[in-house]
Amino acid sequence: MSSRNGVVAVTTPLRYAVFGQPIAHSLSPRIHAMFAAQFGIALDYRAVEASLDEFATKLDAFAHDGGAGANVTLPLKQEAARLCSVVSDRALRADSVNTLIREGDGWRGDSTDGIGFLRDLRDRHRFEPRDKRALLLGAGGAARAVAFALVEAGAVLTIANRTRERAERLADATRSQVVDWNAFADDESFDLVVHATAAGHADASFEPPAAPIGASTLAYDLSYGAAAAPFLAWAQGAGARAIDGLGMLVEQAAESFAIWHGRTPATDPVYAALRAAR
Ligand code: NAP
Repeated sequence: MSSRNGVVAVTTPLRYAVFGQPIAHSLSPRIHAMFAAQFGIALDYRAVEASLDEFATKLDAFAHDGGAGANVTLPLKQEAARLCSVVSDRALRADSVNTLIREGDGWRGDSTDGIGFLRDLRDRHRFEPRDKRALLLGAGGAARAVAFALVEAGAVLTIANRTRERAERLADATRSQVVDWNAFADDESFDLVVHATAAGHADASFEPPAAPIGASTLAYDLSYGAAAAPFLAWAQGAGARAIDGLGMLVEQAAESFAIWHGRTPATDPVYAALRAAR
């Protein structure tokens, strides 16, 4: 509520949401509330459970109710790209939209996963990818965003994925190499290994690749919490420095926030608060 010349105006909170399934444990509402508090922005940001079949209808209802923007997570990112009237170049390349912006009668789609990953990697974990040998495990939406981000940052990229054709398509698009999950050359070594598959989540167990990693490798799981535990345990067992995707989550959210509100929030206090609570 604000007051000027004795006239009291009620500030209607701007409406935002994150759509996904499952979504109950999403940290996004908390992250965006903390960002909004930094600027005194009144924000109504909710988690909306939506299956692939329900998503279009629920997104329409959200727009009808004044929704100004939304985040999208598993398993809806490809479908979100299809529901947009226009998408950014980076979202088009990743075939994945995690940020929706209401424009006129339609949605503009963007992907902040790649830049969120790079900012966390460089600024928080002090790893500069230029000229580094990087192994990417996975070829889904998040992996695609990360692949383009790494190659544009100057890394030399190798991709392994359960479905080899998907890895090959991504390798063609990023001028990278493909390797089979269990067929690494003996003399191969990686400075960075990024786990970007959905394995580790409740319904899919993580099978470690036969990748040669060691004390000089940074191992990065895009997931956090229980989903990241098997990959992180494997990497730590090989002596690697292992980090989870909590920082990426905060950084990709900050980029979405900046797109919606035109202001860039401070991410370190938000990251620290989430880390302390885990
Ligand atoms: P996606 O598009 O559905 O891609 C899934 C990927 O996982 C594909 O490469 C798929 O391989 C692979 N996969 C699934 N089950 C597997 C299994 N049992 N064994 C081996 N590979 C398996 O998902 P996404 O959106 O890219 O998300 C991937 C991960 O990144 C998720 O854990 C997600 O939570 C995380 N993520 C984190 C952030 C963050 O901000 N921290 C942001 C985005 C995503 P096939 O091609 O063979 O199916």
